Amino acid sequence: MLNMVVGVKWVPDTADVKFDPAKGTLIREGVESIINPPDLNAIELALSIKEKYGGKVYVISMSPPAALKGLKIAIAMGADKAILLTDRRFAGADTLATSYTLAMAIRKIGSYDIIIFGEETIDSATGHVGPEVGEILGISHVSYIKRILNIDLTSKIIELEREVENGVEVYKSKLPIVVSVGVGVNNPRYPIPIRRLHAEIETDKYIEIWGLSNIDAELDRIGLQGSPTRVIKIIAAPTVQRRMEVFQYSKEVLNLMVKRLRECEVL
Ligand SMILES: Cc1cc2nc3c(=O)[nH]c(=O)nc-3n(C[C@H](O)[C@H](O)[C@H](O)COP(=O)(O)OP(=O)(O)OC[C@H]3O[C@@H](n4cnc5c(N)ncnc54)[C@H](O)[C@@H]3O)c2cc1C
Repeated sequence: MLNMVVGVKWVPDTADVKFDPAKGTLIREGVESIINPPDLNAIELALSIKEKYGGKVYVISMSPPAALKGLKIAIAMGADKAILLTDRRFAGADTLATSYTLAMAIRKIGSYDIIIFGEETIDSATGHVGPEVGEILGISHVSYIKRILNIDLTSKIIELEREVENGVEVYKSKLPIVVSVGVGVNNPRYPIPIRRLHAEIETDKYIEIWGLSNIDAELDRIGLQGSPTRVIKIIAAPTVQRRMEVFQYSKEVLNLMVKRLRECEVL
């Protein structure tokens, strides 16, 4: 039996996100939110491990209450339990404070063997959280894993493959471990409608809401005061205007094209 914990972030669907140039912030109001895409792969990995080796899948999210919707989707996919970490004092957290808060909540769950994160989010994309949680808990962590090769339940040793540029690396580690996965490592299953209904009408049975009082966290390591990162300025990347000229082929035109490309400093 293995206990898996999956970190899930409820993020604005960035395809819809608009930027406020005056304030330099993302306009989140009225934007559809979704489960961060690789976190669906993380849930799928946890569920497949459970099916093969037995165990329990916890899903955890630090977010304002709107993330409840995402946690219900995770329950409908097959997760056993979800925890929403929500408290005004968690607000303003950078990745370090986020990871610390998540790590303290995972510690509070008690028993954990495999902690699974997405490789990065689509709204902040630092890829910090998985490795930071591993460091804070003082356990092994391996990012960008491709697949689990074997888990020996007696010795509690896991073997896994990690994707690298020109091949794969094989790792062996004692549990517990933190791993992160990207989109494409598996095909996340669809939520089951009947489980979705149960998550909706029996929310308390499946989803616990935790605040600061539910975890043992040091006040100066959470929220804004626990965040050493300061955002000095946010700028929208300028959009590049494409230019087009159509030439009829001839040697002269070819020379002209080369000349033009040189003028534009493309060649
Ligand atoms: C100074 C500062 C202040 C900030 N204040 C806020 C704020 O008030 N509100 C706000 O929403 N954001 C805030 N952010 C952004 C926030 O810190 C990051 O979104 C968060 O730390 C996660 O980083 P990331 O998205 O880069 O995650 P990554 O490291 O890219 O995420 C990797 C994986 O970690 C997991 N994960 C990430 N975040 C969470 C989470 N919250 N819960 C569960 N699992 C998670 C997911 O599995 C994800 O795929 C702030 C950032 C800075 C620098």
